[in-house]
Amino acid sequence: MIRWEHVDWVFLDMDGTLLDLHFDNHFWLHLVPEQLARRDFSHLPFDQAIDASRAAVYERYQSVQGTLDWYSTEYWDQTLQLPIMELSQQQQHRIRYRFDSEAFLQWLKQQNKQVVILTNAHPDNLHLKHQVTGLLDYVDMAISAHQVKYPKENPLFWPALSQHLPFDPNRTLLIDDNESVLSTAAAAGIAQVLCISQPDTTQQSRMIPDFPAITCFHEIIQP
Ligand SMILES: [Mg+2]
Repeated sequence: MIRWEHVDWVFLDMDGTLLDLHFDNHFWLHLVPEQLARRDFSHLPFDQAIDASRAAVYERYQSVQGTLDWYSTEYWDQTLQLPIMELSQQQQHRIRYRFDSEAFLQWLKQQNKQVVILTNAHPDNLHLKHQVTGLLDYVDMAISAHQVKYPKENPLFWPALSQHLPFDPNRTLLIDDNESVLSTAAAAGIAQVLCISQPDTTQQSRMIPDFPAITCFHEIIQP
């Protein structure tokens, strides 16, 4: 599936690719609406408060989807008036590798490739996730889209990235769970792209019609 002999650069997404998206899904889809239900809708019975809070917060999520704000802890701190990083630290027991990601990182480290974590996550989140998992110890570098100034799904991301990294798109593999990121990367000339079909290990695998996809990394590790 992967033509490893044609790969010098391996770009790896973090959340939903190396790490279990369960943390993020739980945080944004459950914990944040619960916090806001208690604060802003306490006059309602709790189940109605949760519904009202969900509707309000999902609308805010949608309004910035696909932009850097969507991934910015500072933006959500201000917009929701919640201590996002403090709450994230309280939830850090949910941060974990997805299936065999750590074994894959160990294997990759022994290959002669440049391995780069390329994430839309805010640097604060990257730092927290490294503190819990140690994932930066396995890679040559990590770049947050906040440094590049565009999210990965924006076509301007890829030319801007080339100012940070001397990579050759013809010899690059990108693994990401976000299909719109993969589309943009493929259009920008990234030679090999691979999708993750089960970003959240507590949910079912998704159908990925447009890209080659894997559930676990052992499917692409060469003996
Ligand atoms: Mg992801």
